[in-house]
Amino acid sequence: MNTTPPHGNLLPEIRRKALKRVDKRPPQELAASWSGDDLLYSGPGKSIFIVLPTPGCAWALASSGGCSMCSYIADSPLQKVSSQELVEIFKKQFQRQVQKQEVHTPTAIKIFVSGSFLNTDEIPEEAQKEIFNIINKFDYIEEVVVESRPEYVNEDVLRDCCTLIPGKILEVAIGLESANDDIRIRKINKGFVRKDFEKAMKVINQLKSDFDVRVKAYLLFKPILTSEKDAIDDAVKSAQYAERVGVNRVSFCPSTIHKGTLMEVLWRRGAYQPPWIWSTLEIIRRVRNTVKIPVIMDTAGFGTRRGPFNCKKCNSKLKDAIIKSNINQTIPEEFECECKVKWEADIEFSDVTRSTTNLLKNR
Ligand code: SF4
Ligand SMILES: [Zn+2]
Repeated sequence: MNTTPPHGNLLPEIRRKALKRVDKRPPQELAASWSGDDLLYSGPGKSIFIVLPTPGCAWALASSGGCSMCSYIADSPLQKVSSQELVEIFKKQFQRQVQKQEVHTPTAIKIFVSGSFLNTDEIPEEAQKEIFNIINKFDYIEEVVVESRPEYVNEDVLRDCCTLIPGKILEVAIGLESANDDIRIRKINKGFVRKDFEKAMKVINQLKSDFDVRVKAYLLFKPILTSEKDAIDDAVKSAQYAERVGVNRVSFCPSTIHKGTLMEVLWRRGAYQPPWIWSTLEIIRRVRNTVKIPVIMDTAGFGTRRGPFNCKKCNSKLKDAIIKSNINQTIPEEFECECKVKWEADIEFSDVTRSTTNLLKNR
């Protein structure tokens, strides 16, 4: 397999420069939490989101330079954070969110570490265990979601985690990004192939007889150097593949331009444009008709200069329709706006222009 990126090897240098510009902040300042309505496996409920500051994603810090669209490393303290400190930060953020809940509706807790929760170099085992012990005391928390690259999905670590939260679902969210190895390796620089993902799936699928452990796949919609039309096709095929290999839920992440990434460099030079919101609707329509597992379309950054965009008249209406569709898993109703013809032309001519930017878009 050809693993040479079509852009040469720009990523390590871009990452090095970006890390130099990072304004180092203490771990407590980098922690964050919020909550909101969400779709749980048991139906509509609430989610608590907690961002924990860890030393940073090992893949982004390696000589690879990390993924071409991701700048999470810039939000990391880039220093060792002790287990005790991590647990203290977790408790503070968790309490803040729990106190806000007047009614104990079914809740999921999503722990974001801007890397891999299951990598003990990022989150020491001691901290993993203590965090799970705290969560276990709350009966109305039904799901615990942690993120990990596939290489850290290890039977012993998962078994320990699941044992600490009996009766709750443990969901491991893996950034598969695309089912296509060429796109994942050469355009996203993800550093793992389908075989690696399937190995992680096998470990989790085997544990299913003893625990309620599930997998969510994040899929990136519109990586760099991909036309709008090809990106839609890849997104749909990737969701179908995810279902085939046993993924329980899919979360699409339409590209937004993060600072200090290769995606930003290309965008600034007019060689990349985030997707149309129309395209996200098209993906929802095609995926809901062919895939049975729950599929969420993340709407972060919709309608902003650096995110998915249609026109000022319809951005927020469509965003609202997609949020609703995420909760009830239906196909949003047909919607018209004068900008739709531009999107249709972009799709129709993308084979001719081979452009990865939206030529007709007028922001
Ligand atoms: S997308 Fe995930 S694996 Fe890639 S650099 Fe970002 S945090 Fe690391
Ligand atoms: Zn419009």
